[in-house]
Amino acid sequence: MADRLFEEAVKAAGNAYCPYSGFHVGAALLTADGRIYTGCNVENASFSMTVCAERIAIFKAVSDGVKEFSAIAVAGSSDGNFSRSCTPCGACLQVMSEFCGSNFKIILADGEYLLSDFLPVSFGKENIK
Ligand SMILES: [Zn+2]
Repeated sequence: MADRLFEEAVKAAGNAYCPYSGFHVGAALLTADGRIYTGCNVENASFSMTVCAERIAIFKAVSDGVKEFSAIAVAGSSDGNFSRSCTPCGACLQVMSEFCGSNFKIILADGEYLLSDFLPVSFGKENIK
C-alpha cells in the first residue's frame, strides 16, 4: 500500500499550482476505511495564503466527514524527480496531530515514518481544556 500511496502523491503533484516556487508537492491520504484523498500545493501571489498538499488532502477528507486516517504519502520535486524526500512542514504536522495519533504513518521517498518521529510533542485538544 505504501508504494501505491506514494504513486498517488506523485500523480497529485501534477496538479500543483506553484508558479512562484516551481516546487510541485502532492499528498495522498489513506483513510481508516481504505479511501484515498489527494492534495497538491496551491500557491498565491500573497505568499502567506499558500496551502500545502498535505493540509489540502486532510481538509478535503474532513469536509467529506472523514476524520480517521492511517497514513499519508508526500512527494515533492522541482524537477520531476520525486526520489528525494519531501518532509511535511510544521503547520501540516500540527494539522495531522489534530486528527491522527502518534502512530500515523508518513510515507516519504526514502521510507516510512511515524508522526511521532517528526512531532514527538504537540499542542492539542487536551491543552485547551
Ligand atoms: Zn505543509
